[in-house]
This record gives sequence, structure tokens and C-alpha cells, in this order.
Amino acid sequence: MRPFEIGQRSDIGQRSETVRRANLSMIVRELHIRGPLSRSELVALTGLTRSAIRSLIGEFVDAGLATEERAVLQGTPGRPSTLVRLNPDSAVVVALEIAVDSLAAAEVGLGGEVLDLVRVDRPRGHSSVDEIVRDLADLVAGLRAHRPPDEPLIGVGVAIVGVVRRSDGFVSMAPNLGWRDVPLDARLAAALGTTLPIAVANDADLGALAEFRRGAAMGAGDVLFIQGEVGVGGGLIVGGKPLTGAAGYGGEVGHIPVNQNGEACRCGSVGCWETEVGEGALLLRAGHPPGGGRSEVAAVLREAETGSPAALCALDHVGHWLGFGLAGLVNVFNPELVVLGGLFGRIHPFVKRTMEGELDRRALPASRRMIHVVPATLGVDAPLLGAAELAFDPLLEDPAIWLRPRAAFADLATA
Ligand SMILES: [Zn+2]
Repeated sequence: MRPFEIGQRSDIGQRSETVRRANLSMIVRELHIRGPLSRSELVALTGLTRSAIRSLIGEFVDAGLATEERAVLQGTPGRPSTLVRLNPDSAVVVALEIAVDSLAAAEVGLGGEVLDLVRVDRPRGHSSVDEIVRDLADLVAGLRAHRPPDEPLIGVGVAIVGVVRRSDGFVSMAPNLGWRDVPLDARLAAALGTTLPIAVANDADLGALAEFRRGAAMGAGDVLFIQGEVGVGGGLIVGGKPLTGAAGYGGEVGHIPVNQNGEACRCGSVGCWETEVGEGALLLRAGHPPGGGRSEVAAVLREAETGSPAALCALDHVGHWLGFGLAGLVNVFNPELVVLGGLFGRIHPFVKRTMEGELDRRALPASRRMIHVVPATLGVDAPLLGAAELAFDPLLEDPAIWLRPRAAFADLATA
């Protein structure tokens, strides 16, 4: 055989292997995000042929990642179709979240089933890297104690209220924790005693990812998610893909300068958006202690319901600045949906009119007409669920790797 023929054949072989892997990825993504689907639905969603779907599903079933089962007939004539369902116990991730007021850990199975979840309050003063890493390791040990020791863990995802370099999980700054330059990925690997891949990202970026895959923004292609607590974070989905910036530092909408005569911000600048719309701004204007947290915000909302002028005025201030900042973002990104998470989801009914009025005044009419502003649906767990999604991404990207016969890949300490 002449050399060029060998070359041609191996090219064709490589191409068909690339196509097979891409098709496997398409199928596992649909099943992971939409839940159980019939083969016909998979044909319609992926554009693959019926026989290709049958053969690729066979690979998932043989590897234990999926099962096929007869669907129950619901009064329709004809044979019941077979439903393909991912097996949540066949690939499991650990999700962690470091928020300002709490720490959380969860185990999530393939397909998005939350197998176990624990969230604990964290006093705001208790925020050294050592303390938090140790507390997270304790949470994980607690979770693992309830789970099968040979569980096929495939990765760890971490959401943190900070600015993160995606490539190596390096936290450049987390102003609300007082952190700078923390190699969180490496610190967690050591504390958890694991060689599993650990992916770290900003909490609002992951909240956006979770709302996009499983919450208020399902089916939308261009989404702006903003989340308020002490700080204000944002996550953008552009053309169906998360926008991260060159290193992962993108989406820091809370630090858009909006008021040159404004307050000093924790990031070192002055007049950032979060100094006008964050929890501190709301509480201070309503006459409550600015570090008071969620319970004080709830108190402000109760006062607003009874008509307290100070509470209503504070909410009006936040609503005005929310609309002001959103108008700029809407003009730049032309999203179809704005999802309000955290504090902003809770105060939405109180600030809706003022905020929408500012949008009417300031956003370009063409973009303004398109957008809906809605509260998030996944609540406080959105960033944690997004961390699980982040940890699943390598499998969704190239599931072929997980179809090979494998030894148990769990190595997280069980005690
Ligand atoms: Zn700032």
C-alpha cells in the first residue's frame, strides 16, 4: 500500500471518530439538560438518523451511563416509545459554594439530579482561606459519609464570590472575603485529598449557567444574569455560550463605574454599581445596619409593605440605579432576558416599577422592547448548581472518554 493511501485512510478514520464523539456529546447534552427523551425526540433535536441514534444510545447503555425503558402509554394509539434516561449514579460531581453568608456542598448526578446538599451559615468575620477550606473539606466529608464509597466521582466544581482565573482556579480577588491571590484549586485539592479535576469560577457566572440550563433562562440564547448580595455579580450568556473574557475575569458588572460622586467600593474604586444597588446601600438608606445580611433585608421589605417612607425610599433608590445600570448593559449586549438573582430576585416586586421606568428612559428602544426582566427560579442554590454544571462540562464535551471500561474513579476521602 502506498504511503499516501495510508494517510488518507487514517484521516477518514480520524474524521469519523471526531464525528462520533461530537454526536455522543450532542446526545448526552440533550439528555442532561432536558431529562429523559424518546429516540424520536433525540432524532428531532440532534438531526441524526434513527440508526445513528440507536447505535450511539447503545454505547451509553453498555457503559451504564444511560438506560432505556418503555414509556407509559397515555391514551395515544400505537406502540409505546422507548425513553432514554441518564443514570444519575453513573457519574457524580461534587459542587461547592463559597458565598458571603454561607458555605454549601452538594453531590449531583448526571442529568442534574441533586443527590445530597448541605448549606451552613458562615459568620461574616470567619473568612480566612484556611478556615473556609477546612470548613468545605468537613462539609464534603459529611456528604461522602452518606454516599456509596465506590461512587464514580468525575470532578469538583466550585462557585466563589470572587474574581477567578478559569485556567487554574486562581482567585485574584474576593473583596467581600478579604482574599487576594489565592490558589484555591490547589488548596482545595490538598484539603480534600483528591486528584479529581477541580474547576473554580465566579458565583454569578455559575448562577447564570444554572439559570440558563435549568432555570428561568432555559431556551434563551442571550441572557444577562445579575445577582445581588453584599457585592453585585453578573453572568452573561451570549449566543448560548457563557461569556468569560480572556482569563475568566469578565462579567464583573458590579464594578461598572456609575457614579463619579459616589461611595468608595471594596474593589478600590469609587462609585461602582454595587455601591448604589448592593445590600449595604439598601440597608443604610433604610436605616438598618449595613452589614446586617438577609434578615435585615427581610425586615426592610416588611417595613415597605407597611408603607414605611424610609424603606420605600431606599428601595426606590436601588430600583433607580438598577434600571440605570441595566440600561447600559442592555444597550451593549441586547439580551432577550434579564434574570435577577439573590437580593435582586427578593426585592423585584418592590423595585419593578422604578427599574422598568429607568429602562424605558435610558435603554435604546429597539433593545428595550425585546427584553423581559424576571426573577431567578433556582433561588439561593443557583451558583451551587452552576458549579455542578461546570464540573460536568468535560463529560458533556467529550463523553467518549467515559465510555471506556474504567476503574472506579472515586478518590475523594470518605472520612
Ligand atoms: Zn468596585
